[in-house]
Amino acid sequence: MIPETKRCPRCGETKEAKHFSPRRRRGTVGLHSYCKPCTAKYVRGFQPNGPETRERGLRYAVDSQAQTVQQAPRRQALWTQQEIAVAMRQDLTAHEVAERLGRTYYGVTKFRVRRGYRSPL
Ligand SMILES: [Zn+2]
Repeated sequence: MIPETKRCPRCGETKEAKHFSPRRRRGTVGLHSYCKPCTAKYVRGFQPNGPETRERGLRYAVDSQAQTVQQAPRRQALWTQQEIAVAMRQDLTAHEVAERLGRTYYGVTKFRVRRGYRSPL
């Protein structure tokens, strides 16, 4: 079922369904998390998939880890249901999840991969 309007967590605006791309998944039809303009901006930010982009991604990961590791009292702790819900939220980056939960950036990304997390796009 497709809602008539939807709020885009990236720009915070509530827009009509036509401003979101349809998404088919597991037999159901829904809408993308982010509106089309935000999706376009996001995709552009990652293209071309050249060495520059990869280097930037790696730098982001290293910086995020360096920052979150200092403030991660819940590092290595078992994941609670509440934490799992936060970790799987598509409107939060791994860095944001790590900060909120007191975990490390790598801990969150590893957890997300294990859980089959799919990025919003
Ligand atoms: Zn948007």
